[in-house]
Amino acid sequence: MSAEVIDGKAFADGLLRALEDDVRAFKKEHDLVPGLAVVVVGHDPASQIYVGSKARRTVEIGMRSYEHRLEEATSEADLLALIRRLNSAPEVHGILVQLPLPPHIDDAAVLDAIAPEKDVDGFHVINAGRLATGQSALVPCTPSGCLQLLKSIHGDLAGMRALVLGRSNIVGKPMAQLLLAESCTVTIAHSRTRDLPGECRRADILVAAVGRPRMVKGDWIKPGATVIDVGINRLPAVDGGKGKIVGDVDFEEALAVAGHITPVPGGVGPMTIACLLQNTLKAARVQIG
Ligand code: NDP
Repeated sequence: MSAEVIDGKAFADGLLRALEDDVRAFKKEHDLVPGLAVVVVGHDPASQIYVGSKARRTVEIGMRSYEHRLEEATSEADLLALIRRLNSAPEVHGILVQLPLPPHIDDAAVLDAIAPEKDVDGFHVINAGRLATGQSALVPCTPSGCLQLLKSIHGDLAGMRALVLGRSNIVGKPMAQLLLAESCTVTIAHSRTRDLPGECRRADILVAAVGRPRMVKGDWIKPGATVIDVGINRLPAVDGGKGKIVGDVDFEEALAVAGHITPVPGGVGPMTIACLLQNTLKAARVQIG
C-alpha cells in the first residue's frame, strides 16, 4: 500500500483562483479594493522572502499590498505607532507583522496592538478566544489550511480521532480547536507526552507541528491514517549546497502506512498564503459590515 500524496500546491492554486473571482465580485459590489499591510522589521533573509511572496500573491489576486520594511533598530514604540496608524487606515483591511521580531521588541505586545478585526494572522488574544469559544474569528492561516486539506479528503470529520503533535499558539492549539469544532476526538501531544508513538498510532488524523526533522516514524502511524506534516526543517548542507527541507514526518516510511499524506515542501506550506488572503477578504467584508 502506498499513501495518496496530497498536492497542497495544486489545492492552494485552486483556492487562489476562486479568491481572485471573489475579490473581483467584492470590488464590483462595494467599489472597494481589499488591502493587506505587511510589516517586517530587520533583514532576516527568510522573512524578507516570505514578505515578498505574500505581497506578490496579494497583488496577483487583485488586492492592494502595503509593505513596510523597517530597520532592525526600529524601537517598539515606533512599531506600535505604525500599527496604530494602520489600525485606523481605511484602505488597510488586514495587518500582518512578520515574525520573528528582533529581540528588543515584545512580540505579544505588538500582536495584541493589532485591531482584532484586521488581525489576519489570527494571533490576537481576542481571535484566539473567539475560536476557542466557537465564535466567528480570524483563524491562524496554517491550521486553517490544514483543516481545508483534511475536509477536501474526508468531508465530514465528526467522530474521527485526531492527534495534534505540538501545542504552539500559532499552529498546535488553534489546530486542535478547529478539529474539536469539527467534532473530532482531539488529543494534543507535546514534549512531555508519555508514549508518543502509542498516542500517534491511535489517530485517524495526525497533524505534526513539532519542528523536529523526520521525527514521526512509519510505525507511529495507524494504517490508513491521514498525515498532515506542518514541519519545515532545513537539514545541514552537504557538499557546500543548501540543506534539504524536510518535514516532521519521515515521509518515505509514512508513505508505506498512511492513507493520505502531505509532502514537504508542497503540502501545507502553499496553503498558508492562500489562507492569509482568504482572511484578508473576510476581514474586509466584516469591516464594511
Ligand atoms: P514551536 O517550536 O512553537 O512548537 C513546537 C511544539 O512541538 C511544542 O509544543 C513542543 O512541546 C513540541 N515538541 C518539541 N519537541 C518535541 C518532542 N521531542 N516530542 C514531542 N513534542 C515536542 O513550533 P511551531 O508550532 O511554531 O512550528 C512547528 C513546525 O511547523 C516548525 O517546523 C515550523 O517551521 C513549522 N511551521 C510551518 C508553517 C507552514 O506554513 N507550513 C507555519 C508555521 C510553522 P512543548 O510545548 O512541550 O515544548
